[in-house]
Amino acid sequence: PAEPELEALQHADVARLLPVPGAESDKYRRGVVGIAAGSARYPGAAVLAVSGALRGGAGAVRYVGPAGDAVVSRFPETLVSDQGPAKAGRVQAWVVGPGAGDDAATVAEVLEADVPVLVDADGLRLAERDAVRARSAPTLMTPHAGEAAALLGVAREEVEGARLASARELASRYGATVLLKGSTTLVADSGGRVVRVNATGTPWLATAGSGDVLSGLAGSLLASGLSALDAGSAAAYLHGLAGRFAADGAPAGAHDVAEAIPGAWRDVR
Ligand code: AMP
Ligand code: MG
Repeated sequence: PAEPELEALQHADVARLLPVPGAESDKYRRGVVGIAAGSARYPGAAVLAVSGALRGGAGAVRYVGPAGDAVVSRFPETLVSDQGPAKAGRVQAWVVGPGAGDDAATVAEVLEADVPVLVDADGLRLAERDAVRARSAPTLMTPHAGEAAALLGVAREEVEGARLASARELASRYGATVLLKGSTTLVADSGGRVVRVNATGTPWLATAGSGDVLSGLAGSLLASGLSALDAGSAAAYLHGLAGRFAADGAPAGAHDVAEAIPGAWRDVR
C-alpha cells in the first residue's frame, strides 16, 4: 500500500480534541462508556479500566462482568449491571477485554453492538476476525507488540522490527483502527492511510495494569464522540503524560497513572 501520512501528536492537536461539556450537557449527552472486563482471576483489570474511563470525559461509566463488587467499592459512581452487555442499558461506546480471561461470549456480544468498541488484552485473542470485519460502527484495537504478534501469527521480534508495517497490516486485516503500544505508540486508522505517533510516554509505564487504564481512558473518549483515530491518539497522549506526572523520578503503579490523568488533561488544555 502507498506510504501512510505520519502525524506526530502535539499538545495543540490533542487540546482541540478533548471534549468540554457545555451548559446544555447532561450525563447522557456526555456519553456513557460500557466496560466489559475483569474476571474472578483478574478483578483488578476491571477496576483499572474503570479508573481510566472515569477520567476520560464520559458522563457515566457502566460496568458489566464478575468484578462489580470490587469496582463499586473502589468507584461508587460506577453503574454496575449483572446482565450481559446486550441488556446493560444505554452505552455509547464499549471497552472489552482487559482481564477477561476466556469469556469469548461476552466479547462476541459486545462486537455485535452498533456503537464504537475498543478491544484490548484477552479480548484481542477472543475476538473473531470476521465478527470485527462485519461491524458497521468503528472498532479500536489496542495491542502491545506481543498481542500484535499473536494476531499476525509472527514472532514478537518481527513486530518490534517493523512496528509501522505491523500496525497497518493489522488495521487492514481487521478493518479496525489499531493502536500499537510501546515506547512510542502508533495509531493507524482503519484504512492504514494515516498513522499518528505518540511519544509522551515513559518507560515507567511498563508496569502491570498500565494498559488497562489506557483502554478505559480511550473508551471514554470514544463515548464522548471522538472518532477511533482521535480517541486512540488523545488517550495515548494523555496516558503518556499522566505516566510522566505519576512517575516523576520514581516508580508508580497503574492506579497512580489513572489519578494523574486530570493533571495531564489540564496541562494539555
Ligand atoms: P500494557 O502492556 O497493555 O500494560 O500497556 C502498557 C502501556 O505502557 C502502554 O500504554 C505502553 O505504550 C506503555 N509503555 C510500555 N513500555 C513503555 C516504554 N518503554 N516507554 C513508554 N511507554 C511504555
Ligand atoms: Mg495490556
